[in-house]
Amino acid sequence: KTLKQGGTFVVEPRRLSKASAELRTRGFGEITIPPSTETAEKQASRCTDCGVPFCQNACPLQNNIPDWLRLSAENEAREAWRVASLTSTMPEICGRICPQDRLCEGGCTLNQSGWDAVTIGSVEAWLGDQAFANGWVEPIRPQAERGESVGIVGAGPAGLAAADRLRSEGYQVTVYDRHDRAGGLLIYGIPGFKLEKHVVQRRVDRLIDGGVQFVLGCEVGKDVTLTELRDRHDVVLLAMGVYQPRVLSAPGRGPDSTVAALSYLTHQNRRDLGDAEQDGWHEARGKRVVVIGGGDTAMDCVRTAVRQGAASVTCLYRRDRENMPGSAREVVNAEEEGVVFEWLGAPKALLSQGDRVTGVRAARMQLTEAAPGERRDIVPVPGADFDIPADIVIEALGFSPEPFAAHEPNLTLRDDGTIKVGAVSFATSLPGVFAAGDAVRGASLVVWAVREGQDAAAEIDRYLKTRTEEVAA
Ligand code: FAD
Ligand code: SF4
Repeated sequence: KTLKQGGTFVVEPRRLSKASAELRTRGFGEITIPPSTETAEKQASRCTDCGVPFCQNACPLQNNIPDWLRLSAENEAREAWRVASLTSTMPEICGRICPQDRLCEGGCTLNQSGWDAVTIGSVEAWLGDQAFANGWVEPIRPQAERGESVGIVGAGPAGLAAADRLRSEGYQVTVYDRHDRAGGLLIYGIPGFKLEKHVVQRRVDRLIDGGVQFVLGCEVGKDVTLTELRDRHDVVLLAMGVYQPRVLSAPGRGPDSTVAALSYLTHQNRRDLGDAEQDGWHEARGKRVVVIGGGDTAMDCVRTAVRQGAASVTCLYRRDRENMPGSAREVVNAEEEGVVFEWLGAPKALLSQGDRVTGVRAARMQLTEAAPGERRDIVPVPGADFDIPADIVIEALGFSPEPFAAHEPNLTLRDDGTIKVGAVSFATSLPGVFAAGDAVRGASLVVWAVREGQDAAAEIDRYLKTRTEEVAA
């Protein structure tokens, strides 16, 4: 595993780590083939320990990547896991679903110098899987119990990360979620081919084993009010994500002419979990599917439609490939699986016969010249409209916050409806109420939700300890 041989760096090519498109589209399992110990160690040994850890700087959790790569390469996986767990409450989840090409691997020096980056995410996921398989994942056993209680609204990655850290400090933690399962978008949004559900469930199980209480099927704002939660707990953390789908504004769009992306993905996830039956509305088998949007949600929809056996799947996005918000890796995966991308195509109208949608009319767009330092705009190409036939049109245009927060008169929101918090304190305008994750950032990434959940937990710990000291003084 020497990095240098005869003064030259030995750089192994990046290993093929995913199943062929033909094989993987037969089901909803993860497409990544877990590396063998030998492959993971070899990958880890490709790290050149370049001195300035650009990968670490590019990781929202500031994971100590060079250290755990070195330990992995030296056959010290258990110690590597210990280092990885210091900065992250979900390494094996982030290792699977972070858009590494835009984060740690995008920063890797090998990548910068024209080589393939170290597959940091796959080594991180491998470490986590080794840790769970070998019993290295420490149960949560606080050194001392504390009397104060914290209520967390939302069992997504932000809420779970905060619950992990707060319970480890000895606080009494209750997580409320309106869904029947914990996990948030990790369970019901992100498809199994990116993240299998048992990987999320074992994290939730560890929290339950450590004494975190879950109150599921409980919608805050409906089944219980925030005021009641504030009376019940010393602190409340709002981590309820953003769920209001943005909708297409185009002639021909009726109330039932499109399918909302998250409804489509949730239904398939429920089917995978054995909760739901196939229904015509969310079923693409034999149909021509058009997905409108260019983010991660759109990529998940097109790839789900392929697996459901769609006759054709087209992704319509108004900008070009370079300017799409989704991960480049996911675009490649989708293309390999047979998805057709209509870049620079903006939806103009929905076509229908009676109440049945038959297609999408789109305007061909072109990029304008940009002023220095500004993003290039897009304008329609005159006379270049085109039609794409469709039996199902899925809208994946992003999400805004739901009005729940707006119903709390003294909770200050930003103009876009996200919750305003102190930049470092995560404190909202309501005393004893904190907020983190997408509810604060807007639709973002799992790794940011984990980071904010952890940081908010540290701030809540500080707040409660300071309060105790003040009472004692
Ligand atoms: P969420 O995960 O949304 O969790 C919020 C929880 O709060 C939910 O369980 C919800 O049921 C609950 N809740 C909401 N309102 C209430 C209420 N009033 N009362 C009680 N409970 C409530 N990120 C990546 O990094 N990689 C990806 O590959 C990726 N793919 C994605 C695919 C899809 C389809 C989507 C939609 C998002 C994806 N993301 C991805 C983004 C990522 O999932 C989110 O940024 C992340 O889950 C946000 O975490 P959170 O804890 O803030 O919110
Ligand atoms: Fe990379 Fe995400 Fe892991 Fe950070 S958390 S090292 S960005 S995969």
